[in-house]
Amino acid sequence: MQNLSEEQIAEPQVDPYLESAKTFHLEMPPYHSFDLSLQADSAKIYKILTNRGTIDAYCIWCDKDGVFNAHNFLSDNIAVPSWTTRHDGLIEIEYHCARNRSHAYHTYYFKAGNFLAKVGQFPSVADFQIPQAQAYKKILDGEQYKEFTRGIGLAAHGVGIGSFVYLRRIFENLIEEAHAKAQAENKEFSNDQYLKARMDEKIKMVKEYLPEFLVENRSLYAILSTGIHDLTEDECLKYFETVKIGIEQILDEKIIQKEKADKAKKAREAIQKVHGQISNAK
Ligand SMILES: [Zn+2]
Repeated sequence: MQNLSEEQIAEPQVDPYLESAKTFHLEMPPYHSFDLSLQADSAKIYKILTNRGTIDAYCIWCDKDGVFNAHNFLSDNIAVPSWTTRHDGLIEIEYHCARNRSHAYHTYYFKAGNFLAKVGQFPSVADFQIPQAQAYKKILDGEQYKEFTRGIGLAAHGVGIGSFVYLRRIFENLIEEAHAKAQAENKEFSNDQYLKARMDEKIKMVKEYLPEFLVENRSLYAILSTGIHDLTEDECLKYFETVKIGIEQILDEKIIQKEKADKAKKAREAIQKVHGQISNAK
């Protein structure tokens, strides 16, 4: 695998879903589980489940980013020890949108001794993430957009390797688009050399036609390929969010480029029109 050493794909130190209350409640797929005998994880999870503060998150009903207040949380007045057998069973967590209390995110966890797993979420991870992906309709054609949301949907339901397949297709399509442009616009482009090259080389050959972020982070492709061939279902799920954010960065850059080009085109036309009118008036 290019640009990807063994260490880089080794087990991450901390589970990425423990990063914040938002990743834990809203992005973690169901049946993701933890061993509470691991002190670092256990302390973080306890803090997240007892959080009485807010979460910054996208509201699917308001259709924009918002603030969510903790409404139902794990309550415990006994500071030490954090976890007791009283917590065994179902734990229900609820957050309400600050704009409208009926906009509520519910998540459920099951604890038995040192075992803790997410067992439910409403609305689903996909319900929460797919509306946020809609911005990419501007840049992905119908089929590609479907594949992108299918990847998100699969990861949301705990299908790791399959979700990587869809994200890798998005990546490959972006490269192919750049390849077609390079061939059309550059007479010196050596297609034979391109077709024989590995992905890393291919990206370098068509880099002028690609978003900068993609060129800089072309190891993303190696992660996706490693995921499909060598990583486990769980490992793919762990890395999914990172890889998805990488793809989104690339698409964001393409959207900005497109908007800039559209605006320039409109401005050019408007200037020509005004210039024509002034010239005619003279
Ligand atoms: Zn709302």
